[in-house]
Amino acid sequence: MALNLVMIGPPGAGKGTQAIRLCRQYDIPKVSTGDILREAVHAGSALGGDVKDIIGAGRLVSDEVIIAVVRERLAKDDTARGFVLDGFPRTVTQARALDEILEGRGPLVIVVLEVPERELLRRLTWRRVCEDCGASFGGVDVPELAEQRGSEGPVESGRCRKCGGPLVQRPDDNAAVIRDRLTVFTNQTAPLVDFYRDRPTFSLINGLQAPDQVTADLTSAIEAALAASGATGRGRARA
Ligand code: AMP
Repeated sequence: MALNLVMIGPPGAGKGTQAIRLCRQYDIPKVSTGDILREAVHAGSALGGDVKDIIGAGRLVSDEVIIAVVRERLAKDDTARGFVLDGFPRTVTQARALDEILEGRGPLVIVVLEVPERELLRRLTWRRVCEDCGASFGGVDVPELAEQRGSEGPVESGRCRKCGGPLVQRPDDNAAVIRDRLTVFTNQTAPLVDFYRDRPTFSLINGLQAPDQVTADLTSAIEAALAASGATGRGRARA
């Protein structure tokens, strides 16, 4: 049975980091709409041209455009055994479209990462991404912890721990746009919690914990959801 997983949470909640871990654990691809759109901007495609200013302002790309992007991506063979969706759906209209796209493809597991706004602001202010490989650093790597750690982390050194590339701030990670993105989340994405809440495959996860604990809680929630939906979920994770 496929693991079709949706990760919901405000910007900075750790969706991307946790999605990478879960993809590795369950051997399924990560589908991040933010990554797809940023790659389109980088490549200078027609889609990229259409969405560049919207992303820069922290607003949402239209439902019509993003649903088409996801429909196309989820039609690819590599998602047949499941996927982790990071950054989609972000509106109730997108959630309804996802149900329709996934009809007949097994249960949808929904996890919500909850993190207080103060912590989100801190994490997003310190977040840096690698210009070359796209890896993201921040959260637990913030400079204020360097002293405790006794060594320089990637954020202070300005270099990617994975490939050595230069670390930069995402253009939409500046203070004004961060505030707008959090407001967009509250107004347009938080209502998704009510949309999904009554499903047996829905869970709320405390995203303020250490990353390993968040991964452990996510894994338990996923296994419970798969079991609740009749799948032989237990033992599926690669560990
Ligand atoms: P993210 O990397 O998920 O924070 O996404 C970066 C930006 O891409 C967002 O601020 C939006 O402008 C756009 N975006 C990503 N996913 C969606 C979506 N599902 N609906 C609308 N806009 C999106």
